[in-house]
Amino acid sequence: MPEGDTVLQTAARLHQLLAGDVVVRSEFRVPQLATTDLSGWLVREAIPVGKHLLIRLRAPVEVVSKGARPTRDFTLHSHLMMDGMWRFQEAGWPRPRDFRVRAMLETARVRAYAEDVQGFELVPTRDEATLIGHLGPDLLHPSFSERDVEASVERILARPARSVSSALMDQRNLAGIGNIYRNETMFLIGLRHGVRVGDVAAEKVEEAVRTAHRLLDLNKFRLPRSTTGLAARGRDSLWVYVRGGRPCRRCGERILVAEHDDSVLALGPSGEVLERDGRPLKLRWVWWCPRCQRG
Ligand SMILES: [Zn+2]
Repeated sequence: MPEGDTVLQTAARLHQLLAGDVVVRSEFRVPQLATTDLSGWLVREAIPVGKHLLIRLRAPVEVVSKGARPTRDFTLHSHLMMDGMWRFQEAGWPRPRDFRVRAMLETARVRAYAEDVQGFELVPTRDEATLIGHLGPDLLHPSFSERDVEASVERILARPARSVSSALMDQRNLAGIGNIYRNETMFLIGLRHGVRVGDVAAEKVEEAVRTAHRLLDLNKFRLPRSTTGLAARGRDSLWVYVRGGRPCRRCGERILVAEHDDSVLALGPSGEVLERDGRPLKLRWVWWCPRCQRG
């Protein structure tokens, strides 16, 4: 099994030899990409993520993904697995006939071919997180980007009948939110915990992701934790978390508390449970202000 450093070196070599150039010919000998032709695509970069290898490409203008948000940025994913490797040769040389070759990318200068490499998939770059593990984008990663916001929102929107509150806690959607930030985020975006994803605008979901990111980022190097901006005094630092029965800091209304089951995947229109993810109930306390959180 190649170690991470092998993958890193392979990615560096791919990047050095291909990035900035256009693919003039491609070939895939894997069923899922058998009809894929990347000729005309620009190689933007090659990067390792753990043991996964990502080659990011930009499609020609006439190629755009289907769906609500078309894109030309795609990622070719592969994994070296047990004995996979990428090899290189000058473009003009005879092509390798080896049966182990699974894929080949050729530019005007270089031919790169993948021997016994597995896990080939081509996805919009914004969705590449779905290929590299179960965790959603990491809110605290230094390179957390607009693309990660989009990817998180898209993952959350994929389950419209789930509560926004539970979706934020699901690390497969985005990684980093615990119960404190869930509660504080829901307060700041003005939503109650039972509100379903599909019952709010996509912009609201995006606001939730951005708010959670901002709160986490602000507190990255800060103790005690604060979401209200009043951390300096070491109190009054949270809006609703563990403040049941006390007055809302914004409006004076009494903060309410209840149990919320994060194992619920789908709620009916009246809040009835339609689907659960099979594991035991995941009950957590949630707090909210009935006046500030009316959505
Ligand atoms: Zn309030």
